[in-house]
Amino acid sequence: MRRDVSSELLEKLDVEKVSELLDIPEHRITGAIQRKTLQYVRGKQDLFRFDKTISGIEAGTCIFPEPFDIVRGFPKIPRALMLYPGVASHFSSCENVAVEEKMNGYNVRVALVGDELAGLTRGGFVCPYTTDKASELIGQDFFFEHPNLVLCGEMVGPDSPYVPKSIYDIESLEFFIFDIREKLTGKPMPVMKRRELVDEYGLRSVKLFGEYDVEKAHIEIEGVIKGFGRSLNEGVVIKDPEMVITPVKYTSSMSNCADLRYAFEFYNDYGRDFFFPRVCREAFQAVEWNETEEELEERCRMFGESILLPMIETIRNKKNGGNVTETVQIRVKDLKTAQEFEEHLRLLGVNAVFEEPEMTGNGYLVRIQKKYHSTSDKTESILNGDLWA
Ligand code: ATP
Ligand code: MG
Repeated sequence: MRRDVSSELLEKLDVEKVSELLDIPEHRITGAIQRKTLQYVRGKQDLFRFDKTISGIEAGTCIFPEPFDIVRGFPKIPRALMLYPGVASHFSSCENVAVEEKMNGYNVRVALVGDELAGLTRGGFVCPYTTDKASELIGQDFFFEHPNLVLCGEMVGPDSPYVPKSIYDIESLEFFIFDIREKLTGKPMPVMKRRELVDEYGLRSVKLFGEYDVEKAHIEIEGVIKGFGRSLNEGVVIKDPEMVITPVKYTSSMSNCADLRYAFEFYNDYGRDFFFPRVCREAFQAVEWNETEEELEERCRMFGESILLPMIETIRNKKNGGNVTETVQIRVKDLKTAQEFEEHLRLLGVNAVFEEPEMTGNGYLVRIQKKYHSTSDKTESILNGDLWA
């Protein structure tokens, strides 16, 4: 049965061509299809997506069979825990580094596939809502002249169904570009050339704080992060201006705590994965910044509150008969997009209930309730007397 399904899928894909273009042996591709690490996804545009990195080809890479095209996945960005000597040693072959704002939204690659735009999420799915927003925000002008380039950026704002944030003073959803890459190879453009090209088309770039001497960058970055103060700006991404060396990320304690508040509201779904790496980040930052007793106490208080308070709130809420849900919203011109997005979430296995659309000036606002069953069931069972096994 499994063999039949994979051979049916193999007929859809020109394995020889993919093998040649991506420089991976044919048997790795057929094997990946059999193991479902290379998955066929039906949707707005049918595609094969790499669920995991295979032979150096990033997870999230998409192969479109018809019309044939390949869009490489967005590579992982390693994190510095100690700015010094982390940054200086990683970028030791560079004189300067460019420091850009790390915006907190969701990663999107926009590319022209055939004669249509595709808004791809990190995992390599065409998201119908993102595609619709990308067409509205970016249009096709850029791609008429640069059909082989991919615009990589962060979709940010309150009308984000994945990572809704109201911290940037954005009304609905905006696209901030942080990379322009070649479709097939994933090769990135140098930072300043990319920023100029983005400007040329009247599009938006993430903020550039500056270019700094690599040996002094840690001092500048500490200033940038401390300059965020109590606001929830996430952090920075430090880049080789030529984009030959892989970028590095560094984040603020405030955004760390905001992530924890979110994760521990849905503690049995996210808590475990979120917790340990964030403890490590806080500890190294406190040491690097030579904090006083008073500053440490404040850091510990913030950190502890971010874990316990949302969890207590969830337990109380459940005890009072409430539900463990997160409400997100999308804004669409056409209800068809909302329907397609509902199907898309179903395909991803997200448990979500779409509320009745509300008419607005130029379209509809649709609220979506995401259900967190694991946290909900666990809390209920303990409140009913189950023991922690
Ligand atoms: P990763 O696999 O890269 O570690 P992650 O899911 O852990 O991803 P993050 O911790 O949010 O993600 O950090 C990387 C992400 O930051 C990128 O995938 C990108 O979406 C986002 N990002 C925001 N601003 C920038 C920027 N200026 N430059 C590069 N990436 C940025
Ligand atoms: Mg992120």
